[in-house]
Amino acid sequence: MSPPPSAGWPPLRDELRDIAPYGAPQLDVAVALNVNENPYGPPPRVVADIATAVQEVAAGLNRYPDRESTELRKALADYLARESGVVLAADQLWAANGSNEVMLQLLQAFGGPGRTAVSFAPTYSMYPEYARDAMTSWVAGRRRDDFGFDLDHARDLLDQHRPSVVLLPSPNNPTGTALPHEAIGTLCALVPDAVVVIDEAYAEFRRTGTPSALELLATHRNLVVTRTMSKAFALAGARVGYLAAAPEICDAVRVVRLPYHLSAVTQAVAGVALRHADELLARVDDLRQERDRLVTWLREQAFEVADSDANFVLFGRFPDRHAIWQGLLRRGVLIRETGPDGWLRVSVGTPGEMAAFRRALLEETR
Ligand SMILES: *Cc1c(COP(=O)(O)O)cnc(C)c1O
Repeated sequence: MSPPPSAGWPPLRDELRDIAPYGAPQLDVAVALNVNENPYGPPPRVVADIATAVQEVAAGLNRYPDRESTELRKALADYLARESGVVLAADQLWAANGSNEVMLQLLQAFGGPGRTAVSFAPTYSMYPEYARDAMTSWVAGRRRDDFGFDLDHARDLLDQHRPSVVLLPSPNNPTGTALPHEAIGTLCALVPDAVVVIDEAYAEFRRTGTPSALELLATHRNLVVTRTMSKAFALAGARVGYLAAAPEICDAVRVVRLPYHLSAVTQAVAGVALRHADELLARVDDLRQERDRLVTWLREQAFEVADSDANFVLFGRFPDRHAIWQGLLRRGVLIRETGPDGWLRVSVGTPGEMAAFRRALLEETR
């Protein structure tokens, strides 16, 4: 008989002990505005085409999928050329199960023991988890009080820590703030031996005139731009994210990816979605207008509101934000308790959902 297990069972890495798995509460509520999903599901024609594509793929599921996602990477390059006017080759694109997996792969390839990843808070709360999982040291600098990027502070921090990976969302989550081109270019030049990852999960929602970091790929070979189909594309359930970068960076990521990491079903669904990009993105303009209306309304009610280029808005400030979050939930409206203390984040939903949110917030705060 084996001896009784010790208190340390199971033999989890020390730094993972007593850590709760990450995730926003998945609650069954009438109005879910907490994870920045697109509130509009795919239209019936797209649903039908997805079903057909999955049926076709199903007949070949005894075989492993294309390990290089060749067709998908071509289709992603075509989409980006249409969306941002930036022409890229398929070997500058890489896709995985959500941009979360892309980001983990980047840290597996470019982070690791003895190396450091840097971001600037408030920033995406998943980054320190990827760093931990890839055994990479994590350093978070800060943003200015208005959530703008502080280049002088960044310069000092990068000098001090010499990171191999810099992670920055633009538009930023949870604040909605987009980075100016100059800041991205300067960052890339400051750390020529590191990779600078600009996480553009919300890029399609940016306000007119806000540029995409894709435009800088030609001038900075250490720049990586990540995107996702989870937000604007209304495809969060399919799990498709991707990056655009120099071919050498894509090749490095290919070294650490799992064999056949992207299923044939996922590749087929993503392909159909990209063919129907115009239909899937048709509501993006509505959502941007709804966002701008929400910002205006919140300011009229004398809340503090961060400017947003995304499909969510950070607003405050509340002496007890948890009480407000809880009060809204009691009224059937789920938002997100995240970001700096005193602030809350709400995703932009349908006009009906936003009306429910405004009503609940007024009842809760007046
Ligand atoms: C939602 C989000 C993502 C997207 O994650 P997926 O894995 O593609 O669903 C990436 N980065 C940020 C900052 C996000 O908010």
